[in-house]
Amino acid sequence: MIAKEKVSRLRRKVKDFKKISLTALLGGFVTISVLMTLTIMVITSYTTQKQALIDNTLKLNYASAVQMSRMLESLFESMQKSLKYGADYFENDDFKDKGKLNSTLDLIRNSSNYFNTLVLTDETGLVLSRSPYSEENVGKYISSDAAKAAIQARTSYISDAYLTPRSKRKIAFISEPIIDAEGEFKGLISGSIYLQENNILDLSFGSQLKANNGTYFYIIDHKGALLFHPDVSRIGQNISQNTVVQKIMQNQSGQEKYTNQDGVSTLAGYSKVPATDWGVVVVSPTQIVYDQLNLQIGMLLLYTAIPFILLTLIVLRVARKLVHPFVFLADLVQQVDKGRVELPVVKPHWNREADLLTRTMLGAMASFRNKTDQLVYDARTDVLTGLNNRRTFEEVIQEWIHDETPFAIIVLDIDRFKLINDTYGHSTGDEVLKQIAKRIQESVQPEDVCFRFGGEEFVVLLRNHDSKTAYDVAERIRISVEESVLVVDRSITISAGIAEFPMHSQSESELFHLADNALYLAKEEGRNRTVVIQTVDKQDNRNSFL
Ligand code: GH3
Ligand code: MG
Ligand code: MG
Repeated sequence: MIAKEKVSRLRRKVKDFKKISLTALLGGFVTISVLMTLTIMVITSYTTQKQALIDNTLKLNYASAVQMSRMLESLFESMQKSLKYGADYFENDDFKDKGKLNSTLDLIRNSSNYFNTLVLTDETGLVLSRSPYSEENVGKYISSDAAKAAIQARTSYISDAYLTPRSKRKIAFISEPIIDAEGEFKGLISGSIYLQENNILDLSFGSQLKANNGTYFYIIDHKGALLFHPDVSRIGQNISQNTVVQKIMQNQSGQEKYTNQDGVSTLAGYSKVPATDWGVVVVSPTQIVYDQLNLQIGMLLLYTAIPFILLTLIVLRVARKLVHPFVFLADLVQQVDKGRVELPVVKPHWNREADLLTRTMLGAMASFRNKTDQLVYDARTDVLTGLNNRRTFEEVIQEWIHDETPFAIIVLDIDRFKLINDTYGHSTGDEVLKQIAKRIQESVQPEDVCFRFGGEEFVVLLRNHDSKTAYDVAERIRISVEESVLVVDRSITISAGIAEFPMHSQSESELFHLADNALYLAKEEGRNRTVVIQTVDKQDNRNSFL
């Protein structure tokens, strides 16, 4: 039986567990709404910011390219000025004093860091001097096509990037013709830049390569060959197939998103250097935009996480407070169902519905309890006298016998009551019954229990008392009735019979029967007296019998 009950309780718990709680429901709703809001925020910010970042990067790269092309142009002009100064200096020189030629070239080269080498040739291409000085070159004819072209041009000249035939270096040079007072071409002064070594381009723009976000730049000559590139090994390489380079070669400047030869999507700004026909390209891999976007979205999620956690905690707390009256009422109803518990006085709840439910439930429970109490009272009480009725008597005596509580029983009966009824009427009889009930109640201790057993018969149960005490109590009642209950001027008397548990009997019916027998004997003996069922010690009870 107990095992079955346990199993069914367990089943109920499993069923309850499967049901969704209000706290989980609200928590779930908040989580779903926050996640949806976040998703919308992330998608919106991703799409709008992506385009803005791409546009910004393109603009920035274009601005950098323009700025660098201006710097390159002014650098180039300074380089040209420096060479022109040399050309002017040698205008009237007869090129005889080799020492002077060398020292002058050294002076020009060292006064700036523009060139890696300076070379002075005569009108035939014979190298007269070189700074820094080199036995290998001086006294020999120039060999490269570019240098030959410069001599032929007899004007300011800018070479493309090329590989020197002797030293196998990638270089580019600019040169100025030396024209004497008569306008005769006397030779050439040319300054070279070693493209793959420390040079003026490196010195002027190298620091800009250190921008940490992956952005870099390169410089191309008018044929699309690389003059400057962070990857030195690529210097000299012709990249004229590149869409941006082609645009520079068509004299255009601007910005463009394109995929380079390695298949990498890039954002480029490009600008032509008019004085040299060179071009500058500033490039950022498109990936940096995505990296920045991911970082921004990461920050967005991080900043949203804190309020979200706070919101969830608040909602869970509110939900728990909201649920509290339901759980409280469920517990209360369960306790009330199990037994008597005081209905608590509860504070008004801040939630209108919860407050209404709590107040209504408590009100209904109080009213229900009052009605039940009344029904129980009615079922246990005699209407006429207000004493406990026979049903209650049965309950009490069974309980005491079950608990083995020692007690004494007094059975009382009104003497010649029929006569009173017959003489004065039934309602007078009822009045007598009420008055006697009152006397009985007044003559016992609060812990003694009085009953109207039926008709004009009463019973008193004295818990933890023996028949001796019961005798005294019965006598007190008897005397009180005799002295105070009168009809007209006729006094009413009662007779009493007493037995004791467990001494006289341990059975309920037998015990009552014995007390009733004692009562019968009291009547036999002449009424208005008390008889205790016979005990071993007879002398103690004058009126005892059997
Ligand atoms: P005895 O001394 O032998 O007990 O005589 P008695 O007349 O009291 O005995 P009996 O048992 O014959 O009479 C009891 C009477 O009590 C019978 C009945 O009319 C009366 N009676 C029983 N219940 C009530 C009641 O509720 N109200 C009234 N007025 N009378 C009642
Ligand atoms: Mg009777
Ligand atoms: Mg009687």
